[in-house]
Amino acid sequence: MQAAVRRISREGTLSVPRDEITDGGKIMEKKNLDWANLSFGYMTTDYRYVSVYRDGAWDEGCLTTDPNVTMNECAGILHYCQEVFEGLKAYTTEDGHIVTFRPDLNAERMMNSAARLEMPAFPRERFLDAVEQVVKANAAWVPPYGSGATLYVRPYMFATGPVIGVKPSDEYQFRILVTPVGPYFKGGAKPISICVSDFDRAAPHGTGDIKAGLNYAMSLHPYVLAHENGYDENMYLDSATRTYVEETGGANFLFVTKDGEIVIPKSGSILPSITRRSLVYVAEHYLGLKVTQRPVAFAEVGEFAECGLCGTAAVISPVGRVVDHGKEICFASGMDEMGPTIKKLYETLTGIQMGTVEAPEGWIHRIM
Ligand SMILES: *Cc1c(COP(=O)(O)O)cnc(C)c1O
Repeated sequence: MQAAVRRISREGTLSVPRDEITDGGKIMEKKNLDWANLSFGYMTTDYRYVSVYRDGAWDEGCLTTDPNVTMNECAGILHYCQEVFEGLKAYTTEDGHIVTFRPDLNAERMMNSAARLEMPAFPRERFLDAVEQVVKANAAWVPPYGSGATLYVRPYMFATGPVIGVKPSDEYQFRILVTPVGPYFKGGAKPISICVSDFDRAAPHGTGDIKAGLNYAMSLHPYVLAHENGYDENMYLDSATRTYVEETGGANFLFVTKDGEIVIPKSGSILPSITRRSLVYVAEHYLGLKVTQRPVAFAEVGEFAECGLCGTAAVISPVGRVVDHGKEICFASGMDEMGPTIKKLYETLTGIQMGTVEAPEGWIHRIM
């Protein structure tokens, strides 16, 4: 482990001076990619950020060109799954700046996730600086404005120190990789079909409210089943009573009543989506809509007029129908397009992100 990191630092590390990247104010030439047709997949980019936690402290961190991670066979991540992650986007605004959206909330959420898994906090200011360094260094990979594509930024932290008896590791790596991803909705947002899962996502007082790989490992089987049965996603119910709506594998629900009010499921085992929290603000402060956050019984889902899934990748994916073992709930908004309220929410939030609608103070973090 130690040797591997030293090797990266000696050969692969490049500390990119900030003004060299902009070439005297001019953004470096973009990679020659078909931006509008990229998929949501991994592509190796030029730089990634690495910081190592050892002897109770984080090192100074650096950018490296080496995309591979070398670690001990007994590393805590490999046996007891000590890992947390984040996801955010860097993109080009209408006026040509490269920005990220509310990265401070990702920094804070990652600290909360880490605390729950007995991992060290990667400090907020360090997190923001690391995002800035890695996005700047990969500026050529940030899709141009109007392409619909974005640079997906994936901070993650995992246990590298050897553990065989169950206990927290004493060595960790914090890394950030970036990869360009295509527009989530190619040719318009088509409503999706979801099914009620027979499996549970998270227990009360469990880990449903943190962003950790362990919550995804166990969701893969239900996800594959849902796809085999022709559904795009699973709706998970609360595992204690199986009567309340939780979320999908990776996105929060948002419902719209027939009177145009927003209802957000509330539960201690739902991951606090930054997109959903932003949409709540937009609904209340930009659109003047009433928002209620409360437990939502599955039995009342059929009463709503619109349903959407909130997350960084798509902002909102409209849901056209929910199927519970053959019983179908079809929303009034139908299977062809977004419902009117979800559409307004989507357009306002993406407008704020892209710089065509004025953003609340502190939401848009300019990188260059
Ligand atoms: C990341 C994630 C979301 C969406 O959160 P955003 O901050 O909006 O991207 C929702 N649910 C789960 C389980 C997640 O991991």
